[in-house]
Amino acid sequence: MPSPIRISDVEKTVARELERIAPIIDELGTRFRDAGHELALVGGPVRDAMLGRLQEDLDFTTSAHPDVTEKLLKGWADAIWDLGRAFGTIGCRKGEWQVEITTYRSEKYDADSRKPDVAYGDSLVGDLGRRDFTVNSMALTVPERAFEDPFGGIVDLASRTLRTPGRPEDSFSDDPLRMMRAARFAAQLGFEVAPDVVAAMTAMAGRIEIISAERVRDELVKLICAPFPRRGLTLLVETGLAAYVLPELPALALERDEHHRHKDVYEHTLIVLEQSIDQEARLGQGPDFVSRFAALMHDVGKPKTRRFEDGGVVTFHHHDVVGAKITRKRMKALRFSNDQIEAVAKLVELHLRFHGYGDGEWTDSAVRRYVRDAGDQLERLHILTRADCTTRNQRKATRLRKAYDDLEERIERLSEEEELASIRPDLDGTQIMEILGIAPGREVGEAYKFLLELRMDEGPQSEEAATAALVQWWADRV
Ligand code: ATP
Ligand code: MG
Repeated sequence: MPSPIRISDVEKTVARELERIAPIIDELGTRFRDAGHELALVGGPVRDAMLGRLQEDLDFTTSAHPDVTEKLLKGWADAIWDLGRAFGTIGCRKGEWQVEITTYRSEKYDADSRKPDVAYGDSLVGDLGRRDFTVNSMALTVPERAFEDPFGGIVDLASRTLRTPGRPEDSFSDDPLRMMRAARFAAQLGFEVAPDVVAAMTAMAGRIEIISAERVRDELVKLICAPFPRRGLTLLVETGLAAYVLPELPALALERDEHHRHKDVYEHTLIVLEQSIDQEARLGQGPDFVSRFAALMHDVGKPKTRRFEDGGVVTFHHHDVVGAKITRKRMKALRFSNDQIEAVAKLVELHLRFHGYGDGEWTDSAVRRYVRDAGDQLERLHILTRADCTTRNQRKATRLRKAYDDLEERIERLSEEEELASIRPDLDGTQIMEILGIAPGREVGEAYKFLLELRMDEGPQSEEAATAALVQWWADRV
């Protein structure tokens, strides 16, 4: 458990962070004040300034309506865009800062409508009252720099707690997505969710179904890419929300793996996710959704494929293929892009392939196929396969790690020699047609496939050798 934050430290952190954005808040605040409007930095940036994690996104709330906001930004911002005038939000960029300015509002959800019903509000405090959590309901008026915190957000921030400004049941009834946001912020900030909030999430989990798949997906992605995804995922599972948004995850809790050594596949999965995160630096960028989600989904085929064999042995034959199928279906339902779906599904499908490797028994041909099948997901497959070892048996873990080191070295070596990733047959279509004296058609395709197999099995061939093999293949055909 992290220790509570001291308010005196918060003050110092805020002062330091405010210096960084002083030109923005002073200039912009003055522009609005001179026009007779109120402007305040609000929500995420205020919270993050207190935590010393302010990013380049600055959200403001204002008494001005969008058309006025747009006029006030002209001549000051480097670029202005409409983020949904209907929702009252205008966006702009000033230097490195992304600014979003939203008119005061109070919005409610109709129980059976997917669209928030937006109404402009008339006060800052009213606007803060409709926000999701007290730590997101703090504001700093500009240019005055008066701190507005009607719901005690700073106290909750100090104790690292997510609490709703009003009754959580009312808040979640207005917008059920806030239940997902509670889990997301728990994962991002490492905060605890207040017990009454957890209770309301548990009682109202089913209400998440009125929210569009896209909005649920966006929160899920943020949760998974956060520093503490286990926290958020555990909340989703324990409150029953996961049963609606990612049912494959809680389903794993019933499964015992074939060695009866792990607590269950669910716990194993969370460890694989964390071990995968530990290796993300290999990809040379920040949090990687595809590899994290692949870790989360890699065993989802197990419940469906579990068989109890004689002698108390449990097997999960083809859970890789079945898991890939289940993964595709879930990601489609959550409206992920085809690229993301194919990347994650491929990793799930290939996550077991390495297990035939033993102590290096694969032929060069098997290594080439591995690389070719993994395609542009090879680096992530390395991560997933290594992360998928959660045995407590140190000797076994070391042996697996060394075997994978060996495989990676062989891939490296073969790649240098053969440009593995772009393996093509030694003869192209035109040559095939010339040699066999045939016209374009199915047979050319078959010949091409034969040469590709040959290339995989035997490595690069000379043109003469490939031609001889092709002619032989053609002659042997019945
Ligand atoms: P980040 O931008 O890092 O995702 P954030 O706190 O800025 O975090 P946003 O989703 O950008 O979160 O929302 C901005 C602010 O708007 C939040 O801090 C919160 O005050 C408010 N907010 C956003 N969505 C909701 C919602 N569904 N219900 C209530 N308040 C919301
Ligand atoms: Mg934001």
